[in-house]
Amino acid sequence: MTAALPIEVPSLDEILRPVNGLSVDVEDWFQVGAFEKVIDRRDWDGLTTRVERNCDAILAMFAEAEVKATFFTLGWVAQRYPAMMRRIAEAGHEIASHGWDHARVFTMDRAGFALDLKKSREAIEDASGERVSGYRAPSFSIDQRTPWAFAELAEQGYAYSSSVAPIAHDHYGWREAPRFAFRPLADADFVEIPVTTAEFAGRRLAAGGGGFFRVLPYGFSRWAIRQVNQRDGRPAVFYFHPWEIDPGQPRVAHAPLKSKLRHYTNLSGMAGKLRQLTGDFSWGRMDDLARGEALRAVALPV
Ligand SMILES: [Zn+2]
Repeated sequence: MTAALPIEVPSLDEILRPVNGLSVDVEDWFQVGAFEKVIDRRDWDGLTTRVERNCDAILAMFAEAEVKATFFTLGWVAQRYPAMMRRIAEAGHEIASHGWDHARVFTMDRAGFALDLKKSREAIEDASGERVSGYRAPSFSIDQRTPWAFAELAEQGYAYSSSVAPIAHDHYGWREAPRFAFRPLADADFVEIPVTTAEFAGRRLAAGGGGFFRVLPYGFSRWAIRQVNQRDGRPAVFYFHPWEIDPGQPRVAHAPLKSKLRHYTNLSGMAGKLRQLTGDFSWGRMDDLARGEALRAVALPV
């Protein structure tokens, strides 16, 4: 029989703590995909905005936890909140693009996507004074329907994207995509860093943020990220939204029940869960993670 060790030895996860990628998709409560059919883009300017106060709360939380992150921001938001963009940059976080107005990539053609990228980059760089090198597609909408998307990103000078969810999901997902970094272009160093999934019983589970993080007990996320860090030996990529920490946001009464369940469940528990998450793992900016992952990315021209 083995006796209990008399002293505390560091656990494996304390020894193996790769720096994971922490990201915030900066959009307001009325800009989410779930409400796309019930809130018209033309009405956005008349709605009560919460994004600035919520981003300030996130900045305070990150400062307390001493973590840096990447803020993938809508051009629409950057144009209206330049002071907020500068506060994010001054705190040492990366500013990157989440497109102009949350139109999903697979609803555009290449020319439309090129314009969306250009307009959002200009707004974000003008507001923040920082050069943008990263992109996250709204609702992870780069998939087999958009074979031109990576080439357009590389052509416009982006170094990386984190726009693929390699799972099957009712709103998004590219089930056959690799789980970890890949180089989708034969003639460029451009790298795609998919959002994190965990493998369980032969299935891929979303494990990098979204509704599941709010709905399921925090222990699932901790298990999943440990699996990725230790068994797969790779950094995880996690994302959340400013509205997810805001139980006081206006309610969209006429949205479908499923959308409301997805959007409103457990908002009040989110900040506490994020504090656990930032305490349990090491986190950093996506551009730093992309540089490291580029060395290990598999070449996979799509
Ligand atoms: Zn988004």
